[in-house]
Amino acid sequence: MKTQTTNILEVTGTVLNIQRYCSHDGPGTRTNVFIKGCSLRCKWCGNPESIRLKPEVSYDPQKCDGKKCSICLKAPFPEGGFYFAEGDDSKVKVNWQLASRVSSEIASLCPTGALEMFGKTMNVGEVLDEVEKDSSIYRNTGGGMTISGGEVMLQPDFAAALLEEAHNRGINTAVETACNAPWSFLEKVLPHVDTMLHDLKLMNSERHKKWTGVGNERILANFKKAYETFPDIDFIARTPLIPGVNADEEHIRAVLEFIKPHKNVIDYELLPYHRFGLGKYESLGVVYELDDYKTPSDEVVKRFQVMIDEAFGRNK
Ligand code: SF4
Repeated sequence: MKTQTTNILEVTGTVLNIQRYCSHDGPGTRTNVFIKGCSLRCKWCGNPESIRLKPEVSYDPQKCDGKKCSICLKAPFPEGGFYFAEGDDSKVKVNWQLASRVSSEIASLCPTGALEMFGKTMNVGEVLDEVEKDSSIYRNTGGGMTISGGEVMLQPDFAAALLEEAHNRGINTAVETACNAPWSFLEKVLPHVDTMLHDLKLMNSERHKKWTGVGNERILANFKKAYETFPDIDFIARTPLIPGVNADEEHIRAVLEFIKPHKNVIDYELLPYHRFGLGKYESLGVVYELDDYKTPSDEVVKRFQVMIDEAFGRNK
């Protein structure tokens, strides 16, 4: 007969990667477990490989041997998924619609690593065994495990089981979420959370829809309900700060007005926009739409930080 603990260990989900020694996603030094699947389409997304729920193939032309190899032009690769452009057989081109059928077994036939998979199925036991390797670091720094995405709430059973098992092993837990999911999903996950980092990207619903693909009504309602239903969670609000999108006083004030009545929202962090994820767009055959947008200046970030510190009574 299986015990309840055994059942938790066997719950599976799609993991993008596990990153050790992280210091920005919750208290202390942490291990971040990135899981796949997102219900937003933020135009600035730095992790496009986390958007789809299932594992997917990526292609790095720098590593491709072209005609010398040609393995992906034959079965078991999907017919027409990979081909040479006329007059150039130095690198393959990709028909992304057909290439999406490539499994991890098939991708592994590429001898140079030009074809790789983003994401793999793992169970809770496998993930926690990896996370637990740094238990002594968590104890010394007050750290633990953070589940990030993608959107954590889109794999609610897996996320809840990961967090519950982390608590079973004495590991502090955090999630990084935008909460664009049904409340019934959040209800499964939040009882096992110590810290919730949550994005307030845009407070105006129409603008939120323009930049992320969906309005923010459900998201804001979920945040409010979470603050009220789970008083013991430390909530930390965050804004990815992008000039021309939300790097303005109006947005910062609106966020502060939203969070300040709730005493368990313990901080508000700014995440200045960066362009680190751009190479990944090409390797997935996706167009990056925010080409002309810049990182906010230090001066702008400092000005907003002063507003936040004042609101949290830190400017005395
Ligand atoms: S199998 Fe890999 S290295 Fe060979 S042609 Fe295809 S992508 Fe290039």
